[in-house]
Amino acid sequence: MKIAVLSGKGGVGKTMVAVNLAAIAQQVAYVDCDVEEPNGRLFLKPEGVARESVCTLLPEFDASKCTGCRRCVEFCRFNALVYIKEKPLVFPEVCHACGGCQLACPEGAVCEKERPVGCVERGQHGSVRVITGILNAGEASGVPVIKAALRAGDAHGGLEIIDCPPGSACSVMESVASADYCLLVAEPTAFGFHNFQMVYELASLLGKPCGVVINKMDAPYDPLERFCETNGLPILLRIPYSRQLARLAANGEIIAEKDMEYAGQFNRLLEKIGGVRR
Ligand code: SF4
Ligand code: SF4
Repeated sequence: MKIAVLSGKGGVGKTMVAVNLAAIAQQVAYVDCDVEEPNGRLFLKPEGVARESVCTLLPEFDASKCTGCRRCVEFCRFNALVYIKEKPLVFPEVCHACGGCQLACPEGAVCEKERPVGCVERGQHGSVRVITGILNAGEASGVPVIKAALRAGDAHGGLEIIDCPPGSACSVMESVASADYCLLVAEPTAFGFHNFQMVYELASLLGKPCGVVINKMDAPYDPLERFCETNGLPILLRIPYSRQLARLAANGEIIAEKDMEYAGQFNRLLEKIGGVRR
C-alpha cells in the first residue's frame, strides 16, 4: 500500500505527519518527494546513506550537419530552443527531455547527453527505509528526481509513505499518481483552508480516497470542518497546537518515538487508513 501525505502549502506539518507514520509503521519505505526541501531526513537521521545521481537527457547539436532548417525549434512545445547565430541553442532548465527535437531533425544533427539534475539517497532508520529525492539548486522541474525516488520506493516493496511536495503543481501529481490513499494535512486558518481545497481537488480529480489530519488546532475552524463534512472527508486526527510538539519538532525529534500518547494516536491513524499496524 502507498500512502501519499499532502498539504496545500508549506509549514502545515506534512513532513511531521509522514515521518511519524513511518516511524510507527516500521518495515516501511519513507519516500521524500519534497525534492526542493527534503526535510524528512532531518527527523529520521538515516544511517548508511548511499547516494545515486539522477540525470536527464539534453540535446546537443552537431554544427557540421545542421542546415539551419529550424524544424527542431518549431517542434519544441516547451520553448526550450532558439535559433541564434546560425545554430540552435537549448535552455537546459526549460528542456523537458522529450527527445522530440532529435526526431524532428532531418539531418541527424541532434544527439543527447546526460545532464545531472539531482540525486536519490537511500539510508536506514531502524526498520524504516529512508529514500530521499534531492533536486539540484536552480533546476526548474523536480519530476525526474521524484520519479527516481518513487522507483526506489517501489523496489523496497511493502508499505510506502510518500512525503509529497506542498501545493498542487505537476510535481505533486507525479508524487500522488501511484498512491492508494491520500492523507491531507490541513491547517485551521483561512489561508490554510484555501490551499487545502486546492489539494483536495487534485486528489479528487485523480480519484484517490482521502482522509484529513488537522494540525496546530487550538479551536475548530468552522469552514474547514463544514467542508470536510459536506464532502464526506473523514477527519482522522486532530493535533493540537502545543509548545511541547513545537519543541520536539524544532529539535528534529520524532514525536511518536518520544511520547507514548502520540505513538498511540499515530498508530490508530495508520489503522484507520488501512496500513500496517504495530
Ligand atoms: S528535448 Fe524536447 S523539450 Fe528539450 S529541447 Fe528538444 S524538443 Fe524541446
Ligand atoms: S532540425 Fe536539425 S538541421 Fe534543422 S536547425 Fe535543427 S539541428 Fe539544424
